Amino acid sequence: MSDSSDSPFSQLYRCRDCGRELGFRSRRRTFGERFILPIFLLQPVRCGECFRRDYRLIFTQVRPRLSETVRPMPVKPAAPPNQHVA
Ligand SMILES: [Zn+2]
Repeated sequence: MSDSSDSPFSQLYRCRDCGRELGFRSRRRTFGERFILPIFLLQPVRCGECFRRDYRLIFTQVRPRLSETVRPMPVKPAAPPNQHVA
């Protein structure tokens, strides 16, 4: 608990390991995570970069959990159909 800039309602996730601001909701696995964490307004969050698992306030903005099949696919922007070959 050394970071003093953290306000209790800070809503941005930031990994404590790699500093990335990309967090994903993680599955609640244990009894404690299912029933104890919500009491403290906490949720399990996983870093999208280094996969560190951590507990964050439920106000923290994280992305929905990835599907079971996690594939490292680069997300391409919707490319316009460029196949107008004469
Ligand atoms: Zn990380």
